[in-house]
Formats: sequence, structure tokens, C-alpha cells
Amino acid sequence: MQREGADGRDILRHAVEGVLWRRIAAVSSFGAESALLLAFVAEIDPSVPVIFLETGKHFPETLAYRAQLAEHLGLLDVRDVAPRQTALAAGDPTGELWYYDQDACCSLRKVVPLERALSPFDAWISGRKRFQTTTRAAMPFVERVGDQIKLNPLADWDARRIHDEMERRALPQHPLVARGYPSIGCAVCTRAVGEGEDARAGRWAGSRKIECGIHDAAPVL
Ligand code: SF4
Repeated sequence: MQREGADGRDILRHAVEGVLWRRIAAVSSFGAESALLLAFVAEIDPSVPVIFLETGKHFPETLAYRAQLAEHLGLLDVRDVAPRQTALAAGDPTGELWYYDQDACCSLRKVVPLERALSPFDAWISGRKRFQTTTRAAMPFVERVGDQIKLNPLADWDARRIHDEMERRALPQHPLVARGYPSIGCAVCTRAVGEGEDARAGRWAGSRKIECGIHDAAPVL
């Protein structure tokens, strides 16, 4: 599905302009590197829906950054998507599911709400990069997952290039980055990393989990 010589940003532009797929949304964690993808989307069309999974477990800094970045970029349609109250009451009545079953918690608070939120769309945009994890190392720019297309326009960007481009654009930084959090998820499942540690070492530290599950479905190409 990937054209030789294809560039992720060209694909993003064609996608957002509706050349390739009519109904498209971006999904963002408003994390450490989220500003760059959102800046690219906003400069093409700031009215593209941006889905933010409001898990109820975020750092307060992430919620503040979500508001700051949306304002800075002029994003017009950021959608906070939360689990249904009935699902929380049934699946995690004490709010402690993350402590003893992280996969079930991610399913309840991320995977199921995202599936619901994305159901009206033909395609969605993710900010994942190949360098981040072994599971992303061969990730193409464009994937078909079930009935939907998933775009990874930053797939071939590395950490240095992202950092430099964010600086060049003077994009606001998530406040926790300066406090040792190069990768940021829910507060209860993220710790700061030490000198020389992998950037994602602070995510679900102490477990073998490396993905929340929203990207686990096998691509069909
Ligand atoms: S990252 Fe942690 S708190 Fe957030 S949904 Fe997954 S298990 Fe739950």
C-alpha cells in the first residue's frame, strides 16, 4: 500500500484535504511529542477532529497541556472521549483496575472508547514513530486495519528530528518533559526515566506491557 518514495507529510496532506478519504480524524495523547503531528494537521485544516482519550487517570499537567496546545494551534474540534459511566461502574468500580490488570484497564479506558469514537470515520491519523518500540519498527505510513485506514505520517521521524522541528516551530512543550518524562501516558502507569534509560522505560515500568492496545490490531495490507 506504500508508494515508493512516499512521504508521510504528503500522505497526511492528501488525507486531510479529503483527496484519499472523506471522513478522517487524528488521535492524540497530548504527550511529549504530540505537538508536532497536531501542528502539521492544524496547518492543513484546524477543523479536523482530534480525539483525546480522557481515561480519568491523566496527569493534571497533561490536561492543562491539552488545553494550551489546542489554543496555541487553533484546533477547532478536540474531542474528549471517556469510557461510559456504566462500563466503569461494571469494570472498574474502585478505579484500581490498573493496579492488578493493566490490559483490562487499557481496554476499558482506551480501546473500547476509541473504537466507539472512531466508528464514524474512514481513516485516522496516529503520531507513532518506528524508533519508539520494536513493535513499531516496520510500521508503514499507511495501514488498513479492519474497515479503516490508519495513517502514520511521522513513521520515519526520529527523536532528534522531532525535537529540532518542535524547537524550530517554537511549539509548547509538555511540562513533564523537563521533569524527566520523555514519554507520557496515564499518571498511575508512567514514571520519570533516569539517565541513559530508554525513553519509554517509564511506561508500565515493571511489567512487560509496551502498548496500550489501541494499535494492536493486525494491519491488513
Ligand atoms: S495506561 Fe494505566 S491507567 Fe491508563 S488506561 Fe492503561 S492501565 Fe489504565
